[in-house]
Amino acid sequence: MRIEEFTFQVQRLEKWCKKLTEDQKDVLYEQLKHIPAEAFRDVVTDFIHSLRPGSPFPSITALKEAWIAWKASHPEKIAREYEEEFCPECGGKGYFEVVHEVVPSKFGPVEYTTMLPCAKCGNWKKIWGQKPKRLWTKEEIKAHPIFYLKGDISTPAGVEKRRNIRPLAERVGKSLNDIPF
Ligand SMILES: [Zn+2]
Repeated sequence: MRIEEFTFQVQRLEKWCKKLTEDQKDVLYEQLKHIPAEAFRDVVTDFIHSLRPGSPFPSITALKEAWIAWKASHPEKIAREYEEEFCPECGGKGYFEVVHEVVPSKFGPVEYTTMLPCAKCGNWKKIWGQKPKRLWTKEEIKAHPIFYLKGDISTPAGVEKRRNIRPLAERVGKSLNDIPF
């Protein structure tokens, strides 16, 4: 989408959510400019319908996930350029859903996830548009000291990482949010 269309939709959302700085908008546009204007308009409308007034602005991950959901529900509008290539590594999604933090709560541990792009196919193009700084294989994620694949908790490595996730974050010495994906 063009910057004018992006800016218009962000202004719609800012009437409902907390405002972004100009620098934040630049980053957001870089991350989302591959989304067609029509889809971004629908995504913004859905957030306006579902968020309470005064909520934080949706995260880049949340906006990208909404774009993925939009594509799934509008298959007729997806151009040939978005066709998936077959990938046994990620199942063709182009990304892995990875747990990067586990926080205790009175309802049990809550897993916070992020999306890491798959190194074995080109399907990340559908989500990131331009090549992400780093692509990942399943083996690299399994070998990572903190991350584990969502759903991988049943493996001994997953259980161990989940138990140790806080101390490991401290050993790394910075917020998990600062670790470059
Ligand atoms: Zn893949």
